[in-house]
Amino acid sequence: GPTVGVLALQGDVREHVAALTGAGADARPVRRPEELDAVHGLVIPGGESTTISKLADIFELREPIDKRIAGGMPVYGSCAGMIMLAREVLDGRPDQRGFDGLEMTVRRNAFGRQVDSFEAPVAVDGVEGGPFHAVFIRAPWVERVGDGVEVLGTVTEGPAAGRIVAVRQGNLLATSFHPELTGDLRLHRYFVELVRAAT
Ligand code: GLN
Repeated sequence: GPTVGVLALQGDVREHVAALTGAGADARPVRRPEELDAVHGLVIPGGESTTISKLADIFELREPIDKRIAGGMPVYGSCAGMIMLAREVLDGRPDQRGFDGLEMTVRRNAFGRQVDSFEAPVAVDGVEGGPFHAVFIRAPWVERVGDGVEVLGTVTEGPAAGRIVAVRQGNLLATSFHPELTGDLRLHRYFVELVRAAT
């Protein structure tokens, strides 16, 4: 399969490597610009976006990743990774900065403290087999999508019904939830197909 990296600065890197491997990719952690050069697609894991933002600068990966995105490399971000792929972040730390990613605004820790973590079924357009059992952990939601951003999934029940939690713009894919934690490989397969098609 195609070579897919997982940005390994902070977060649930191992879970994404395992899911990508299960989805047929040659998956590996990416921590250095040379390692980025060797991959055809990149996953930005869940974790803490303020930390990932800081470490992206320290490890001198920001500019190389922005360049690869501009060049059409497929990137998938889950949760903190979604925040890192947003052009605009609400409730972020003033010094945090995402990559030059999707034309969208996300709100960090959007679902509120009472429901820090929750699970809900989310159907994702283009992925067959029924809704995902979506796990949200201090997750962002998408507050605004710009031209060219396709909404792939929303929460369908409960107080957060209607909130956008899965989006795609060209080769950039993002979810508020963590399919890497539930053993459901469909989203990673979808992404690996995207990488294959782009390679
Ligand atoms: N709240 C985290 C952030 O702001 C995201 C949480 C997660 O990735 N599970 O980056």
